[in-house]
Amino acid sequence: MPMTRAQCLEADRIDPLARYRDAFVLPPDTIYLDGNSLGPLPKAVAGCLHDTVVEQWGQGLIGSWNDHDWIGLAERLGEKIAPLIGAGPGQVIVADSVSVNLYKLLATALSLRPGRTIILSSEDNFPTDLYIAQGLTALLGRERCELVILEGSRLMQAIDANTAVVMLTHVDFRSGRLYDMQSITQQVHDAGALMLWDLSHSTGALPLKLDALDVDLAVGSGYKYLNGGPGAPAFLYVAARHLGNATQPLRGWMGHAEPFAFRPGYEPAPGILRFQSGTPPVLSYRALEAALALWDNVDLDQLRDKSVLLSETFIELVQASEVLSDFVLNSPREAAERGSQVSFAHPLGYAIMRALIDRRVIGDFREPNLLRFGLAPMYTRYVDVWDAVAHLDGVMLNREYDAPEFREQPRVT
Ligand SMILES: *Cc1c(COP(=O)(O)O)cnc(C)c1O
Repeated sequence: MPMTRAQCLEADRIDPLARYRDAFVLPPDTIYLDGNSLGPLPKAVAGCLHDTVVEQWGQGLIGSWNDHDWIGLAERLGEKIAPLIGAGPGQVIVADSVSVNLYKLLATALSLRPGRTIILSSEDNFPTDLYIAQGLTALLGRERCELVILEGSRLMQAIDANTAVVMLTHVDFRSGRLYDMQSITQQVHDAGALMLWDLSHSTGALPLKLDALDVDLAVGSGYKYLNGGPGAPAFLYVAARHLGNATQPLRGWMGHAEPFAFRPGYEPAPGILRFQSGTPPVLSYRALEAALALWDNVDLDQLRDKSVLLSETFIELVQASEVLSDFVLNSPREAAERGSQVSFAHPLGYAIMRALIDRRVIGDFREPNLLRFGLAPMYTRYVDVWDAVAHLDGVMLNREYDAPEFREQPRVT
């Protein structure tokens, strides 16, 4: 039996994470279930940006690179993210976008496994991950780099002595399906290859243990569950044991051992710092820094427990509703195999989601027919889940999806 609305209110009352909700700007009468795509605005960000613009930039001018340690932002923010992904110090920086970081790290992986040429990935991976690998393959040519894309279940059998790196996204962006990071990383290592995890839909949604599981390389997003703002910089992780030899192709001056020596020849900065390329967009970093401050004392096991209960409640409510009987669960039914989102297939998915958003319940639509709901435990309440499903019932009962304005798709869905 799914929770009643009264039980949801009670669960919210005793929720140990409830106090974090007040740290976010959440528009009134809105249920925001799209924080897996763009996290909401933390209240601390506006003040931080105001200070950065008016004081640090306006008054401090160029001196702020030192006086406010703008130059150290990539490293400082990396150290803030490290505990969220189970990484010890010196292995994480914040830089560029997920796409660009994937490019850097795939090249790093190939250079760490000379003689091996294959990048192995899954066909349901997030498309940018595959496009980036295709671009690297085109640049390097077949003798040095080949991309093999397989259906998930056939992937593990395909690893062989020519596989340099396996690149997978930990939580599937459509279904929320969670890969077993431990067993896959182990199998990849048994074949002598390296493991590159994309943590875009996992960081800030569940506990991660990169060091303990011997992960080699990872990337993740700053603007999803970390709430760093639209286009926030991403992060990358390189295990300490690789840092001695690791190189990356986007050798900008910020990754140089002495950028201000202005010498013509590249010499890599020590350790993880060589994975920087150009000048960091300071305003975006400062927004992310303010957002990351929220995570200082968050218990990630509590976060996971809440995420599981939120998604179980969502699924149970949908499945218990007669009006929603033609919604097909597109996420694993087992909580242990899911990240922090659920999706349902419905042939009228796009128009239904538009009608739901019109009621201020904000999820999103993914091709071909998926209604997707992110359940970010930092600010989502149990009662929000209950009310969201009640609104979905209303959309279906009143056939609100029939409205002609809900047929056309805008540029961003
Ligand atoms: C969101 C997301 C990205 C986004 O990449 P950007 O380069 O930061 O736009 C990449 N991969 C996955 C798996 C994602 O979920």
